[in-house]
Amino acid sequence: MLPDDTGAEGQTVIVEWFNIWHQWIFENIVQPMLYRMEWMSFDELAYDWTHLFLLGALEVVLLWALIRPLELWLPVERWESRKATRVDVLYTLLARLGVLPIFFFIVLTPAFDWVNAQIRMAGIIPPSFDNLLLYVVLLDFVDYWRHRFEHRFNIWWALHAVHHSQRQMTFWSDEREHLLGQLIAAALRAAVGLAVGAPPATFVTVTLATAAIESFSHANVKLSFGRIGDRLLVSPLYHRVHHAIGIGHTGRTMGCNFASVFPVWDVVFGTANFTHAYLPTGIDDQLTGRDYGEGFWRQQWLAFRRMAG
Ligand SMILES: [Zn+2]
Ligand SMILES: [Zn+2]
Repeated sequence: MLPDDTGAEGQTVIVEWFNIWHQWIFENIVQPMLYRMEWMSFDELAYDWTHLFLLGALEVVLLWALIRPLELWLPVERWESRKATRVDVLYTLLARLGVLPIFFFIVLTPAFDWVNAQIRMAGIIPPSFDNLLLYVVLLDFVDYWRHRFEHRFNIWWALHAVHHSQRQMTFWSDEREHLLGQLIAAALRAAVGLAVGAPPATFVTVTLATAAIESFSHANVKLSFGRIGDRLLVSPLYHRVHHAIGIGHTGRTMGCNFASVFPVWDVVFGTANFTHAYLPTGIDDQLTGRDYGEGFWRQQWLAFRRMAG
């Protein structure tokens, strides 16, 4: 037997196990709940959501098991209390366990159904690529420019500042974003996914893969991928510079190192900063006492106040 076959077989076993669990949880927990609430018309949506929930839960557990020991072993910062990191756990669970994605899906569906109908009526057939990496690169490019605009326009920065206001950054911090900001990001990604005909399963795989890299890049870990590696993939050092007080949101481009996965966008568009220093994270005006909120709801509310101001 070729080594490749063994790998494929192992993978099939994992997928089979996963499917059995998915089926079991759906039939024994989700469906009875739908019956009780007389929501049987959501059967199909709930089945897909259970799938997303389990994939997300599995990923969170795996990331925690892999990254948390690294944070303990090679921390950049040591804190007496980790209280400030707790709200980021909540953001992560809401986003990664499919609670926010399913909400965004429901909110955005009418708009996308309309767009889809227009595309079909116009006789346009979106291209469909086999190459997974191509989708990763394309969506990463879109994320890069979305992120740059979040820093560029004050009204959008008001939302994105929630992400930057974390002064105890850990691998949980990636999903710490304002809900409205997350909705806009989800809409953009979905729109691009639709436009290039990304199959839903591919879209989910790409999202899971990039989410893992983004979690890792926020980790409180003293780690860079080296001179060349840092130019190929966003490392914890590279993204920490993006969050650094006095660097992350200043200068002509209102920050640096905007890339989520591939630093090449920063290199090409002149926003890369390969400073080799592990600096404190946060926003300048926090040093003079500006409050961005500690709890979830206060962070959400203060962002709207900044927008209005
Ligand atoms: Zn940013
Ligand atoms: Zn970040």
